[in-house]
Amino acid sequence: MSGEAGIVIVGAGECGARAAVTLRESGYAGPVTLIGDEIHLPYERPPLSKQVLLAETTEAPPAVLSEAGLRERAIQHLAGVPVTAADSASKQVVLADGRALPYDKLLLATGAMPRRLPNVPASPRILYLRTIGDALALRPWIAAGMHVAVLGGGFIGLEVAASARSRGARVTVIEAQERILKRGVPDAVAETVLSVHQGNGVLVACGVSVSGIDADEHGVGIRLGDGTQVTADILVVGIGAQPCIDLAEQAGLALDNGIAVNERLETSVKDIYAAGDCCSFPHPLYGGRRLRLEAWRNAQDQAIIAAANMMGATRGYESVPYFWSDQFDHTLQIVGLVDEGRSVVRRELGDGAFILFHLDDGGRLVAASGIGVGNRIARDMKLSEMLIAKRVAPSCEALAADANLKTLLPRAA
Ligand SMILES: Cc1cc2nc3c(=O)[nH]c(=O)nc-3n(C[C@H](O)[C@H](O)[C@H](O)COP(=O)(O)OP(=O)(O)OC[C@H]3O[C@@H](n4cnc5c(N)ncnc54)[C@H](O)[C@@H]3O)c2cc1C
Repeated sequence: MSGEAGIVIVGAGECGARAAVTLRESGYAGPVTLIGDEIHLPYERPPLSKQVLLAETTEAPPAVLSEAGLRERAIQHLAGVPVTAADSASKQVVLADGRALPYDKLLLATGAMPRRLPNVPASPRILYLRTIGDALALRPWIAAGMHVAVLGGGFIGLEVAASARSRGARVTVIEAQERILKRGVPDAVAETVLSVHQGNGVLVACGVSVSGIDADEHGVGIRLGDGTQVTADILVVGIGAQPCIDLAEQAGLALDNGIAVNERLETSVKDIYAAGDCCSFPHPLYGGRRLRLEAWRNAQDQAIIAAANMMGATRGYESVPYFWSDQFDHTLQIVGLVDEGRSVVRRELGDGAFILFHLDDGGRLVAASGIGVGNRIARDMKLSEMLIAKRVAPSCEALAADANLKTLLPRAA
């Protein structure tokens, strides 16, 4: 089924690498070229704000695919070279070094990048976190005796705060909204996260605006809207991410909060697909609502669907959204879309762990969010995901009670 040119994948992150592997595992025999602008082998990002920051020594980035893995699968990996243009008429991509590569099918898996603070001059003391380079630049600063200010009480900011505090740094989190984790996390879960941080000595200031930021060789000054100033050794900025769409824009693809794809992950231009953090797609579980997810498992699952479809399948993407975050000894998980839920049922799991079930107006389970120490919530969250996928409308009593969630799953015909 392949022509001479084969499949070109732009972006050698979680999604791009997984797509390349899936092509081979599915028997695709044509050329597979994986092009990444980072110099590394494809690596995992979730450890960057957790294990990599907590580690004592510099380690190789946690790889998704090793040199041997690439070789065994005959995947050509071009590293450290951005793709600057894609021409759908001649079906080729152009690299920053001038090379042009033809494709039969093209997958854009370009990911996302941190949203930058406007009007703040670059400084080695103002840091962002997306790449292994970012994590290694940050790590020496997070030690006892340092004061780490974190702008943004979202997942990245809070994970950095937890890692920094665990390594003995003094940590202040500054959040503009009235509470942390405002996007997609219910109040009760956010409150638990807050108390875990406060219990570990992190100072969290919510509802606080920033009127200016200065940095010099001695530190960073963050002027707050109330006239006070936070002085810290470094400022870590975690104010969200934006999809990498430059190439898609240049290629004339339709955009809509990222690269717009249909349920089969096809872009508006024939033979070009997009997947992972860079794309928005309609989700059948939520009435076709267009979503863009920044989540590890979504990147993997979409890679698998995109690979299958580039080989001729017509599979729709319908996985239940899933996200986890580790902060101190707690793990938080979200399955489904919390903001789709109207009513909430709480299930206690002991030792402070709990799950909230979010039901729509018809009583269908649309999301579950939970938090607990270690893997306390893991099993019930997995079952919740299955209930959401099966569009089950369980009784509130059954959800709240101690009953095994498995019994709520529809029986196989
Ligand atoms: C610090 C951190 C912690 C995280 N923790 C969690 C977690 O706990 N749980 C969770 O579910 N998710 C987590 N995530 C999110 C998860 O890592 C991402 O959803 C996932 O990496 C997305 O994969 P991707 O392949 O779409 O994008 P990426 O992994 O970003 O890969 C895209 C790659 O494409 C490259 N690229 C972009 N444009 C071009 C171009 N023109 N030419 C060549 N290459 C290009 C980029 O440089 C990048 O290497 C975390 C993310 C970060 C940054």
